Amino acid sequence: MPSLSRDEVQPVQLLDTRRRPLHDLRISVTDRCNFRCVYCMPREVFGRDFAFLPRDALLTFEEIERLSRLFVAHGVEKIRLTGGEPLLRRDLEILVARLAVIDGVRDLTLTTNGALLSPAKARALREAGLRRITISLDSLDDAVFKAMNDVGFPVSRVLAAIDAASAAGLGPIKINAVVKRGVNDGGIVEMACHFRGSGHILRFIEYMDVGTTNGWRMADVVTAAEIVERIDAVWPLEPLEPNYSGEVAARWRYRDGAGEIGVIASVTQPFCGACSRARLSAEGKLYTCLFAGSGHDLRALLRGGASDDEISATLRSIWQRRADRYSEIRSEQTPRLKKVEMSHIGG
Ligand code: SAM
Repeated sequence: MPSLSRDEVQPVQLLDTRRRPLHDLRISVTDRCNFRCVYCMPREVFGRDFAFLPRDALLTFEEIERLSRLFVAHGVEKIRLTGGEPLLRRDLEILVARLAVIDGVRDLTLTTNGALLSPAKARALREAGLRRITISLDSLDDAVFKAMNDVGFPVSRVLAAIDAASAAGLGPIKINAVVKRGVNDGGIVEMACHFRGSGHILRFIEYMDVGTTNGWRMADVVTAAEIVERIDAVWPLEPLEPNYSGEVAARWRYRDGAGEIGVIASVTQPFCGACSRARLSAEGKLYTCLFAGSGHDLRALLRGGASDDEISATLRSIWQRRADRYSEIRSEQTPRLKKVEMSHIGG
């Protein structure tokens, strides 16, 4: 097989053991975050003494670009940069620019908490080739939001980041809100009210048992069905067709034409059957499931002098052996299994 590093090579379609194609790549660019969201990086675990990855353990931009090209050669069309908090990685727009020009990348996006998304940063990312952005915001109530991010970060600054992204042309902007019962579910309708008619797409995410540190219990999950029901009672909704096969969020449209929302029912309506996502951790481990216990070390190959063909053969063999379907087999017991933290491999 010829080297896959040239742009014009036609992608190979890879299928796993459940006939799922490789289509999306989520790249975590750092395991660090400036928030300590209670459901993701609880302060008791990720405190002062927590050993984050040292700088030289992180994949360099060159390494990320090289791997991305190989993934694209194997069918990836969509790349999402995430973390940790991706905007903590210095000069991220340089990486964006490198990825944006890869032939075959049809969608390049970023998930961020917005804390570092100034108007200038948003413009720089857009100019580098970022197409869209997702900004996380769990509540419009300052006290609730500050308690959830656990660093006292105010709602107003995330709203300013959303405005900055919008002004820079990074729309349609998606707003991710994780819902935890008894914590922020009282604000579901208020959030819907705020973003209705804005052109932004609010997406509610069922609280998941990612990692092992968030103390997940099924009783804390507000189901997507309940979320839709609560909003529908105030502004009637109707279902929309997915934009594409394997879309994570189920789409609902306001009947009065004020836009759409999404609900991500990863707990109550698992979508493993159509999961086409691979995840690359900041230190170059490839995970084929958000709930995986271990990853495959691609950095060792990169730094050990492996050729593009050798790395490609590894990618193919990992994907072709993939059988993960954690969310379909989740039970009250599985949260205790060894699983990678979401802050390590990104959302
Ligand atoms: N720091 C960035 C951010 O806040 O968007 C990117 C990384 S964060 C891990 C990505 C997404 O995962 C965020 O929208 C976050 O709310 C979501 N998330 C984290 N832990 C979660 C959990 N236990 N259940 C559901 N979603 C979760």
